[in-house]
Amino acid sequence: MEEKLKQLESTFLSKISDVQTEHELGSLRAQFLGKSGSLSEVLKGLKDIDPKLRPVVGSLANQIRDRMESGIKAKQADLESLEIAKKIQEEKIDVSLPGRIRWMGTVHPLVQVQDRIVDIFSRLGFSYIQGPEIETDFCNFEALNIPKNHPSRDMQDTLYIDENRLLRTQTSSMQIRAMLSEPPPVRLVMTGAVFRSEAVDATHSAMFHQLECLCVDENVTMEDLKGTLEFFAREMFGNKTKIRLRGSFFPFTEPSVEVDCTCVFCSGKGCKVCKKSGWIEILGAGMVNPAVFEKVGYPSTVSGFALGIGIERVAMLLHDISDIRLFYENDIRFLRQFL
Ligand SMILES: [Zn+2]
Repeated sequence: MEEKLKQLESTFLSKISDVQTEHELGSLRAQFLGKSGSLSEVLKGLKDIDPKLRPVVGSLANQIRDRMESGIKAKQADLESLEIAKKIQEEKIDVSLPGRIRWMGTVHPLVQVQDRIVDIFSRLGFSYIQGPEIETDFCNFEALNIPKNHPSRDMQDTLYIDENRLLRTQTSSMQIRAMLSEPPPVRLVMTGAVFRSEAVDATHSAMFHQLECLCVDENVTMEDLKGTLEFFAREMFGNKTKIRLRGSFFPFTEPSVEVDCTCVFCSGKGCKVCKKSGWIEILGAGMVNPAVFEKVGYPSTVSGFALGIGIERVAMLLHDISDIRLFYENDIRFLRQFL
């Protein structure tokens, strides 16, 4: 019996040295010290041996059990410190590594241009407003003197939501909303996205941005429009910038003009950008058509001017960008140039 106990202990010792995990240690403990473990099995034989020898064998069995218990405890401690050492190794921080650069968000180039233009008109006393992108047919067309069946409704391929609602095709719809909600005088600058059912290419987008100004009061004349445009052109493109007006047609202004300014790249001498003309078309404008005032219920004694600028067009001119799609792709390499 003593032999059996010693044999058991040596088997235990060889097995415990192979133990790698806490789970394996648990199994080993059950195998040797559990209720039906090997030690209990051996001790079942105690009743068959000489009663005189029982205390000696019993004492040996207790010593072996104690040694096994403390062996398991020691192994447990070893495994735990190994685990800790492993964790420390894994979570080691190399303080000499260079830091990660956190890129700050910045204002989109289109918004930068928009903010600059809004700021210029704010200094002339224009207040900034915004309006809904989903518009009624009345605000987007009817009240702007573009009746149903008017050819310009075909010109602007409109994205209709239903018979009466559409995605606004021009920011001019905000002029109507403003005049319907407040009496004259008004002096407003407004911006926003507009939508057309347009095939997308380098110079066309189904969604782009406009900025619009409206000034209505008594005795507002073409002269006021011209002075405003000259101020804007100088502030935007430099002190020496000149403008010229060419007759044009918009249903909501009468008379209507296209506005050119001297080329920013060649100062009017003629270059590739201005196609040797020295002039670049920047916006459309005109005196508000009295038919529009009638639609919004303004008195016939008022007059006013309106002007509209394509924000993408100005941004492309200023930054010499040839593809409008770059503005919408959110490519960080493109956007980073406008920090
Ligand atoms: Zn030029």
